[in-house]
Amino acid sequence: MTTDSTKIRVRFAPSPTGYLHIGSARAALFNWLYARHMGGTFLLRIEDTDLERSTEEATQQILTSLDWLGLTPDEPVVYQRQRADRHKEYLDRLLTEGKAYKCYCPKERLEELRGKARTDGRIFAYNRAMLEPGEMEKYEAAGGSFVIRILAPEGETTGFDDMVYGRIDVENANIGDFVIARGDGSPLYNFTNVVDDIDMGITHICRGEDHVSNTPKQMLIYNALGATPPRFAHLPLILGPDKQKLSKRHGATGVMEFKEKGILPQALVNYLSLLGWAPPEAEFNEIMPLDEIVSKFSLDRVKKSPAVFDHEKLQWMNGMYIREMPKSKIYELVIPTLKSRFAVNSELASEEWLHSIIDLAIERSRTLSDFADNLSYFFEAPAEYEEKASKKFLGNSEQISQFVESAGVLDNAWAATPTPTTGPIDEWCGAMEAAVRTWSDARGYKFGNVMQPIRLALTGRTASPSLFHVMALMGREEVARRISACATRLSATAQ
Ligand code: GLU
Repeated sequence: MTTDSTKIRVRFAPSPTGYLHIGSARAALFNWLYARHMGGTFLLRIEDTDLERSTEEATQQILTSLDWLGLTPDEPVVYQRQRADRHKEYLDRLLTEGKAYKCYCPKERLEELRGKARTDGRIFAYNRAMLEPGEMEKYEAAGGSFVIRILAPEGETTGFDDMVYGRIDVENANIGDFVIARGDGSPLYNFTNVVDDIDMGITHICRGEDHVSNTPKQMLIYNALGATPPRFAHLPLILGPDKQKLSKRHGATGVMEFKEKGILPQALVNYLSLLGWAPPEAEFNEIMPLDEIVSKFSLDRVKKSPAVFDHEKLQWMNGMYIREMPKSKIYELVIPTLKSRFAVNSELASEEWLHSIIDLAIERSRTLSDFADNLSYFFEAPAEYEEKASKKFLGNSEQISQFVESAGVLDNAWAATPTPTTGPIDEWCGAMEAAVRTWSDARGYKFGNVMQPIRLALTGRTASPSLFHVMALMGREEVARRISACATRLSATAQ
């Protein structure tokens, strides 16, 4: 791997132990944005050395999720597992140079030291100087097992300037000689992470705040290896609206779950970019196309305080994105969701008809799945009617006979004015409305009170797009069938 030292190189380094969490996706995005803004390179490393917890399925899910979000790496994916030789090389080097050592101290002795620190009220961080002179040699001679620890230089402090949190210094005495590899030579997280970042020429590490405590340890490894450490930017936590750590309780947390819920990747990217970052006040605009986010993005404007993930707000933003899309794109995305949910008979449901019903739902849909919810009545006659409204509008026999009469008026008007088979239907809707209005005015009925029972009969609901548009697309026969089914059903319970 070659590196141009003036060029920014960042990476996203997930462990494939589960689906891609929305918090990790935010870290991936911030790295990607930084790379794009700086003209740098965005890399992906799958940290799959934990053989017990890593799975191929999780790796695939991470790749698919990143691809869906558009966060594809600029170079081939690096798999940590394939780099074992390099890890061993670096480990051997530290051992040869005396910067790491085999520690034979048995567990019981460690426990004793830990207990003593607890009694004295001190933080416990092991270092070999805590043992008596000759004690380690004694354990080694006894042929006990060992681990490999790095030597944290005594009396020194290790620190770094975090691009978000500022200076963070920790005394080596509080870091201790921590374990970098097991006795069988298999290296641990902090070590492999550093070795790979060095080899990949990473200049900036942008990752969750939960890693802050690892960073001083990693700085010790960079120093021991004589490598220039990258700059670090830790990202604030993501909380739910109740200010608790974001979890399943708050709703979807896996990137693919958002896709299934009908969230658009561009809306999710826009929403995630504002979780912990915002452009200067004067340029702030919640809906920002990607190229605008890229041009404004900077790590200096990442905030320290936790970000709150609000599903409602994401849905609102998604709705805005839907309404800005060309209709042809909306059809392309929504038709498959309708076909997967309903038996869409291609003879009855022509493409043109599908487009027309989708048009009716655009204003009311915030996600792609909302379209299917909002349009379900076109595919399935209502199985029930909203209870409160059916009591209010169709609760007694008088109301039912008025409803049946209005349906007759409607059907007569329809017979006189057939629905146009091509072109706009607004004029037809106007003519139908006028016919119903003339009748309701003559009878002294409120127009709304006449239409609401019809809406219930056709959709089962009290809210829908313009009812005459719905009727035109549902067809005269189906409208008549639903009205009569509703009248029959509600007569049975009417007083
Ligand atoms: N594999 C680590 C994680 O998924 C990487 C952390 C890092 O970015 O350094 O948390």
